[in-house]
Amino acid sequence: MSPKVYISGKLYGKNDASISVFDHGLLYGDGVFEGIRSYSGKVFRLQQHVDRLYDSASAIFLQIPMAREEMARAIVDTLAVNKLVDAYIRVVVTRGAGGLGLDPRKTTDPQVIIITDQISLYPEELYEHGLKIITAGTTRNHPNALNPRIKSLNYLNNILAKIEGTNSGCLEALMLNHKGEIAECTGDNVFIVTRGILHTPSIDSGILKGITRDAVIELARSAGLTVVERTMDRYDVYTADECFLTGTAAELIAVVECDGRMLGSGRPGPITRDLRQRFGSLVREEC
Ligand code: PMP
Repeated sequence: MSPKVYISGKLYGKNDASISVFDHGLLYGDGVFEGIRSYSGKVFRLQQHVDRLYDSASAIFLQIPMAREEMARAIVDTLAVNKLVDAYIRVVVTRGAGGLGLDPRKTTDPQVIIITDQISLYPEELYEHGLKIITAGTTRNHPNALNPRIKSLNYLNNILAKIEGTNSGCLEALMLNHKGEIAECTGDNVFIVTRGILHTPSIDSGILKGITRDAVIELARSAGLTVVERTMDRYDVYTADECFLTGTAAELIAVVECDGRMLGSGRPGPITRDLRQRFGSLVREEC
């Protein structure tokens, strides 16, 4: 069966799923999106993803032409039609087609697109042995320019850092904010463990408020760990006992090297491995 893509209320075969070349989502990256996971046919933290999508839209003056409940239903229905169980779901809302000028008042019909696909995780051996990352020279968007809390269609900032990473043989790259503090990776949030305490950059470091990040903070606290959200710099990462990343696609993955320095023992640490297991249990409990 050819995959079905939802576009604004209708389902299309993969090859027929298209929108206008005049859509400001394409012309200017003017729109928002979400990356969501399903496990065993159930969507993980659907409400949080829908809420973040609507918050992103509201932050860019974009009115999504359907209610949140309708959006949640469309996501679940598209997943069911595609008979996918463990899937990755991409929801995109564009500003809609308009003129070639910037003026969003000239756009009509914001498009709501839902694409479902098989999940592609990092190779299993990277979960076992951990990732190597570098710090990118490209800093994270200044929150007063384009707040990283907005999951906008304009991901060039992250893509430029990702290219720096892949050019150096790394699948992820650490991004600093405009003050030189640790922000996040190109598509993942970052955590460190130092002397048994979990630290992660606070939201005002200029990061996306990751849904996996939130889940891991809850899990860690309920396991009795202290979690500190704070300003961090590269010294904190270089001297950490453990480091890991969180994200919808990656879930929770250890980082064992940063900028050529071995982190901790150079192997995924005990707290990282424990939290990864707890995350697996949480997903099985909720889905
Ligand atoms: N930061 C960035 C820049 C992201 O794009 C993502 C999502 N891929 C994350 C962090 C992780 O967020 P979540 O756990 O909600 O997937």
